[in-house]
Amino acid sequence: MKKKTFMDIDVSGKKVLVRVDYNVPLDENGNIIDDTRIIATLPTLTYLRKNNAKIILVTHLGRPNGSVVPKFSLKPIAKRLGQILNIEIKLSKDVVGEDAHKLVEEMNEGDVVLLENVRFHKEEEQNDEKFCKELASLADIFVNDAFGTAHRAHASTAGVSRYLPSVAGFLMNKELISISEVIDNPTKPFLVIFGGAKVSDKIGVINRLLDKATTILIGGAMAYTFIAAKGGKIGMSRFEEDKLEIAKLILEEAERRNVKILLPVDTVVSKEFIPNAVAKTVDSFNIPDGYQGMDIGKRTIKAFIKEIKKAKTIVWNGPMGVYEFDKFKKGTNKIAKAVAKSHAISVVGGGDSVAAVNATGYADRITHISTGGGATLEFLEGKLLPGVAVLDDK
Ligand code: AMP
Repeated sequence: MKKKTFMDIDVSGKKVLVRVDYNVPLDENGNIIDDTRIIATLPTLTYLRKNNAKIILVTHLGRPNGSVVPKFSLKPIAKRLGQILNIEIKLSKDVVGEDAHKLVEEMNEGDVVLLENVRFHKEEEQNDEKFCKELASLADIFVNDAFGTAHRAHASTAGVSRYLPSVAGFLMNKELISISEVIDNPTKPFLVIFGGAKVSDKIGVINRLLDKATTILIGGAMAYTFIAAKGGKIGMSRFEEDKLEIAKLILEEAERRNVKILLPVDTVVSKEFIPNAVAKTVDSFNIPDGYQGMDIGKRTIKAFIKEIKKAKTIVWNGPMGVYEFDKFKKGTNKIAKAVAKSHAISVVGGGDSVAAVNATGYADRITHISTGGGATLEFLEGKLLPGVAVLDDK
């Protein structure tokens, strides 16, 4: 599947509607805590400006649920982007309507207008036809550079494409190429590392990767569902009872296909789910009553790192423990360091795993850090993402 990018078409003098993912974290005063997602779009913006396009940016921020919520206004983003590009970024009062049209009509080549939060309209998530049409009427071309929201069929990620030539931006293209390369033709041994909260989010990917992976490491809360499926005692650990059967099937299928699945052998547990909880390490298959698993233990870290060192291709998604609590982030950090220092082709996705990799100082050694969470998982699973499906083929 080869999609057109904006390098395949003439953008000069054109009004280009670019869907970006500027859903950045803000502190309680509305200051941007981390502008990685803004920085990630600079190649696209720079290319379009150099090629004399007029850039109209559209994004969501937070979950305003279809109404105007002032704390989710894009004002801080317009300001930060203006500082980065060293130009004035005009922010429209509304995504569509008179003010947006006026700002767009006044643009010169190379200018950038930011449309106000697209999720201030309930029509965005409803992928409403009239709203798609209105949004499209602002521009000549649609560029989707928001891989992180490409698994959603919303007006600004998919619907708008019905009315405009639609192509991928740099960031979107890089995601599609990097992830496809790893998944279509992985150099073996191919190691997949899964963690995080829920088995349910990852069943589809695990099933698909059973076809391709050499070894799968499972940490995080999702490991306890697998441990319980094997008859282990998991105490009060978080697990999904309704996924026990599917976990059993996955384990059986892996065995049949000769794919090694490694579960934690030891676990750091506590009685309370709080940052400074008193912790101890126990056998993962024999967690005492009243205790819950919070992180993988030392012996597990060692066993997992051994596999990471052997791998030639690595895909990692999801933390090994409760990464939000300093006391229980050790497993995730050690795995992050090992993945980053390995010589394998590596793809890391999901907020916590990416943050852990960034904190190692070796992030530049990861082949591809994905900007998606759910989108990365769905793409790895082989699903056609709505925001990608609508882009014109080469
Ligand atoms: P996900 O969004 O699926 O990548 O899951 C990330 C979440 O999994 C984080 O908020 C972690 O705190 C949580 N998590 C990881 N390990 C555990 C665990 N052992 N118990 C409870 N939550 C966990």
